[in-house]
Amino acid sequence: MAQHAILSASGSHRWLHCTPSALLEKDVPDSGSDYAREGSLAHAYCAKALKENLGIGTKGEDIEIEELQDYFTDEMPGHVETYTGIVLGKFEEAKKSTPDAVLMVEQRLDFSKYIPEGFGTGDAIIVADGTLEICDFKYGKGVEVSAIANSQMMIYALGAYERFSDEYRIERVRMTIIQPRIGNLSEYELEIDQLLYWAGHVLTPTAKKAIKGEGEQVAGDWCQFCKVKCQCKALAKRCTEDFDALQESGTTAELMTNDDIARLLPKLSDIKKWAEAVGEYALDRALKGDKFPGYKLVEGRSIRKIIDEEAAASKLTAEGFDADNLYKPRALKGITDLEGIVGKKNLATLLDGILVKPQGKPALVPESDKRPPLNSNSAESDFESINN
Ligand code: SF4
Repeated sequence: MAQHAILSASGSHRWLHCTPSALLEKDVPDSGSDYAREGSLAHAYCAKALKENLGIGTKGEDIEIEELQDYFTDEMPGHVETYTGIVLGKFEEAKKSTPDAVLMVEQRLDFSKYIPEGFGTGDAIIVADGTLEICDFKYGKGVEVSAIANSQMMIYALGAYERFSDEYRIERVRMTIIQPRIGNLSEYELEIDQLLYWAGHVLTPTAKKAIKGEGEQVAGDWCQFCKVKCQCKALAKRCTEDFDALQESGTTAELMTNDDIARLLPKLSDIKKWAEAVGEYALDRALKGDKFPGYKLVEGRSIRKIIDEEAAASKLTAEGFDADNLYKPRALKGITDLEGIVGKKNLATLLDGILVKPQGKPALVPESDKRPPLNSNSAESDFESINN
């Protein structure tokens, strides 16, 4: 089983902002997810491809690939190829200036000099004179990950610097995130002095507090993957404080004004996700035997279903019911499926005038959104038919 550091590099965005979080979630098991397993499989394929290119054995990767094979998808090899192509291209470039440059794959990194008990594994590290480059593969596609001031990448860079600075003259580090499923290639460069300054003035002092669980719980976007988010009072307070503020606003009106609603709008999505997560957590705990005062477990609503359609149809036709009336009419496949069969361009040409893109429903978005605003006077009548 993989070892996990209490102050992990991947969780650093969280414990750098909320120092008690690392100890609070220390004993909560990692439940894992299908997405995480799919990502692990893609990572294993990436490491295998790079190691094969370097003529290194891939026994560990082969075992992992076999274990996780259920999570393979047809699109995976293409994304693995994109990643390995970028890394190998960068390696070739580094060799032009440093002939003995090396590419380290799945390199264990020790950053305990900066973070108590800190260690991790770098996906790919190109070590050369001048610039040391850390490449990190991200298989997720839900959130675009930026390398800019990314603490996880900066911690890996420190570990790599410690490991290789005796052998190479490293002046700066480049941190690169490759997220092929959404075409994201994000790079960030720092002089070594800047990296070491951050380590000495921000990282290490904060890590020393975090390993002791000191400091205040501070909620923010870093709470998303915190393992105690459903129990966290600081996050609950953050999600509900605007509602409390409305109660205490001192206005005599019982209805919210548009200004009140505008203040709530940016937080609704986070509040909704948090509320759903708390509900799911409570159900999970109740199923495990926990009690929640005033609540009980019951069987949920269920929908009747036919478990053997062929047997049902043959019994009904045997009773004289017309088979044509028993089945749904044939339905055309969705556009994406049809594009897969016919080809995207070909489908658009063949169905010219039949394949259309109707006007989208109106959406209320922040002013910073790139789309041009609708004319609010006419928007209601313009969209009346859609709403109907
Ligand atoms: S959910 Fe709570 S403990 Fe976790 S990071 Fe957020 S504020 Fe900190």
